Amino acid sequence: MSDALAEYEADTEQLMRRVYLGVREGSLDPQDVVTLACELLDRFHHTDAVLEVVERNPAEVSQAEMTALALRILADVGFDPGFDLAPERLETLRAALGIVARDLPTRGIKGKPEIEILEDWFPVGAGVRLADGERLTWGGPILPHMCDDPATALTGLAILIQESLLERTWQVWPECPHHGLGAHGSERESEAVWWCAGDGGHILAPVGELARALGRHRPT
Ligand SMILES: [Zn+2]
Repeated sequence: MSDALAEYEADTEQLMRRVYLGVREGSLDPQDVVTLACELLDRFHHTDAVLEVVERNPAEVSQAEMTALALRILADVGFDPGFDLAPERLETLRAALGIVARDLPTRGIKGKPEIEILEDWFPVGAGVRLADGERLTWGGPILPHMCDDPATALTGLAILIQESLLERTWQVWPECPHHGLGAHGSERESEAVWWCAGDGGHILAPVGELARALGRHRPT
């Protein structure tokens, strides 16, 4: 990429961030949306929303309409505010970690795990650091957009933790006591669960409630 193009990309990125924050904080400057639309048009992003912003007189577009157009444009170009511009995503992720952490003692893991932001990944994602310092990132980090929904964030964490532990030790966990099969994190009907593939598939337990499911079938 040439320096001029790289600079241009960085400027557009800054503009997108400003538009996003303007929408978020209710302080959107219509001129920013127009400038962004013109830049995108220059780069052949001919979406309906871009064309509408460029073609209409901004003075005749209400703030509500401009906000809706700005959101459509950001979606059209796949803009992601990451964790830094949408910090509530980290709160969702930390709450999800608190739930899946309840299952870790069934794997012999003690202590409170923490979310670790992985600045060296692109895009910036999140992994898990166990109390003993072990970092779990197998299969790739949790991406910011996965944290817009609590069940998706929880499912992503369950998968990341389960696959990271499996990769390290090849010890199957969690194991379905009915079928002797390893269960996997899965989202079913908007709920994060441990899913066993045995007998056509069934929920072993909701994520966070594994101890109860395993304890019930433990031989006495
Ligand atoms: Zn099973």
